[in-house]
Amino acid sequence: METIIKLEEIATHMHLEPAEEVSPRPLLDEATHVAPCGQVLPKGDTSSKKPSLGIHQAVVGNKTVPMIKTMLTTACERNCFYCPFRAGRNYRRTTLKPEEMAQTVNDMYRAGMVNGLFLSSGIIGGGVKTQNKLLDTADILRKKHQYRGFLHLKIMPGAEKEQVRRAMELADRLSINLEAPNDKRLAALAPRKEFVAELLRPLQWVEEIRQTERPFATWNGRWPSSVTQFVVGGTDETDLEILTTAHYLYSQLKLGRTYFSAFSPIRDTPLENRHAEDPQREHRLYQASFLFRDYGFDLEEMPFTQRGHLPLDEDPKLAWAREHLADRPIELNRAERRELLRVPGIGPQGAAAILAARRRGVLRELTDLQAIGVRNIRRLSPFVLLGGKRPLINPNPNQLRLL
Ligand code: SF4
Repeated sequence: METIIKLEEIATHMHLEPAEEVSPRPLLDEATHVAPCGQVLPKGDTSSKKPSLGIHQAVVGNKTVPMIKTMLTTACERNCFYCPFRAGRNYRRTTLKPEEMAQTVNDMYRAGMVNGLFLSSGIIGGGVKTQNKLLDTADILRKKHQYRGFLHLKIMPGAEKEQVRRAMELADRLSINLEAPNDKRLAALAPRKEFVAELLRPLQWVEEIRQTERPFATWNGRWPSSVTQFVVGGTDETDLEILTTAHYLYSQLKLGRTYFSAFSPIRDTPLENRHAEDPQREHRLYQASFLFRDYGFDLEEMPFTQRGHLPLDEDPKLAWAREHLADRPIELNRAERRELLRVPGIGPQGAAAILAARRRGVLRELTDLQAIGVRNIRRLSPFVLLGGKRPLINPNPNQLRLL
């Protein structure tokens, strides 16, 4: 019972970071504060929020599962400028032992309350010691309790390579939050974190191990995915800086996802007087990052302004298409997959549907596209040809025809 009270205490003060949610802007309606090692906190006075155990509905693969998102401790010896859990801040701290956490999560799992655990921690006694406690918790869950649920484990800043490998054997997903796009920007956000040695290197180890070792010793025979998060607008970093790093992470380290959290100031922290970042900026960064991950776009193709930012008022894919496709529309009956993915309104599923439909016959009408599930006709029509003709959207939305 005492452990449940502790979990409620932790959950009252935090909503953990977006890690498995559906939305590209997860939790932002209810939570905008970036917290320890990337957690996202509710707006306003968190003490007035109704306690819960930190159980959220999370998307894992193509299933939605109840997941408890929590921490081994809300105490921390570091002093990240944006974080309410930073050392020295007046805040009631809560700590659970690995056995205690593992037992309680397993009880919830057996009772059908949760089918996933996202586990993070503040840092006490250094990153290595804290990582060992996270690993102990995961080990007890998997080995002693035979826990088969989803496990998203945090890698602490400064963790060693062998600890990363051990985490890879126990978890389904690992996250190491870079917070900033480079060492200079990180120094303005979290001066006691080292960008390359403590944060980037562990992410590199994950991919190196995935590429060079077989997952024999993992709990399920597979290597875990890896993700990270950036605080957006906590310093004067540009979108170009953030996306340069995000592009590297997707192309070289094969990250599953880069998360972005618009900065929001927290009382009694060094950044309390800094303005909150526009959530639309975060949204555009997600769109651009998905263009890297799923659509084959390069960094150089993003429509950066002279100041190195994405336009806030336009989707980056649409901006690219206006410049490159408006006068050179793509013939949907001949285009390769990578060309189809360049068209606004056509995603990976739409491209696959078009390629499959072409094997059965010629696409002649916009209604042919609608019939195979490509629904965003108004968006794509200025940039495509069907049988050599530009499709015309009739003002009557139910009537589509070609010029
Ligand atoms: S390491 Fe930084 S971000 Fe993580 S809990 Fe400590 S102060 Fe917060």
